[in-house]
Amino acid sequence: MQISSRFTIALHIFACVETFKEEYKVTSDFLAGSINTNPVIIRRILTQLKNAGLITVARGTGGIEPTKPLEEISFYDVYQAIEPVENGDLFHFHEAPNPKCPVGRNIHALLDDKLKAIQNAMEDEMRKYTSEIHTTIVATVDDEGLPVTAAIDMMDSDENSLYFLTAKGKGFYDRLKKRGFLALTAIKGQDTMSSVAVSVRGKVRELGYERIPALFEKNLYMHQIYPTEDAMRALTVFQIFEGTGKWFDLSKKPIERASFSFGGAQQRAEGFFITDACIGCGSCLPVCPQNCIIPGGDPFCIEQEHCLHCGNCMKVCPAGAVQKR
Ligand code: SF4
Ligand code: SF4
Repeated sequence: MQISSRFTIALHIFACVETFKEEYKVTSDFLAGSINTNPVIIRRILTQLKNAGLITVARGTGGIEPTKPLEEISFYDVYQAIEPVENGDLFHFHEAPNPKCPVGRNIHALLDDKLKAIQNAMEDEMRKYTSEIHTTIVATVDDEGLPVTAAIDMMDSDENSLYFLTAKGKGFYDRLKKRGFLALTAIKGQDTMSSVAVSVRGKVRELGYERIPALFEKNLYMHQIYPTEDAMRALTVFQIFEGTGKWFDLSKKPIERASFSFGGAQQRAEGFFITDACIGCGSCLPVCPQNCIIPGGDPFCIEQEHCLHCGNCMKVCPAGAVQKR
């Protein structure tokens, strides 16, 4: 998983807004001077931050302001607004902040340790999601293009992969080999309203027998199903090595959702977003079951982590300002 320099540019933007708020109108051209990059890139990132409800950009003057005090905007909020890209390290710092600008000169010293801490924390979160996955329902596609499901236990995980095994004689094995892709869902909880659901879709590859003894040691019940080494030899390990996932926690009020990717997969921003066409009429507010539309901004914005994707706001919007992506 990697986060592009757009993330650190976004943090640079917030640092500039805070540092220069008393002295200058902070616009995209002003920011381009401090960050030392093309204003078009800045404007794209500003649009992402605006769509995420983190800033407002005044029409006409282009003045940028955060929608709430900076101490209430977390690095995770900014990360959610800026998509991860490409393989490699989690963070790619923008190359050459302007040393003549006081923020540009100090931005590395300010952020380097914090970015490392975030990387560790995010990898822990990824491990937490994947370690909660054990018995899953896995979907593959047959030769006629139709879906087939199977109950499959995930035997192990690390920050970039899930591991499971299957017998080579099964149709499931053939489908994995032919398609190299699967989707799975796991639900954990006593009942619907106490449940956390995790869904993952991604690429799989066969690793073979070598890892099986270690997986049996982690999942001792497997010895009851395949009690001898000869029986174990019928099995082979698969790795889900690249993919995207969604995590949905119905036990929280309002509900919480989050997306993640691993192994370098690109994550598409999905959901409902309010565009500049918003006229601030407020018609969307009473129909939102999660109360996750923040009024008053220009435009209004949706708290993505609480949105149910029900589409009610899009149906009632008289200005066609709500987009489904
Ligand atoms: S899609 Fe539904 S839950 Fe999400 S903001 Fe619109 S009305 Fe609210
Ligand atoms: S209904 Fe549409 S135009 Fe009205 S506030 Fe909501 S998003 Fe904006």
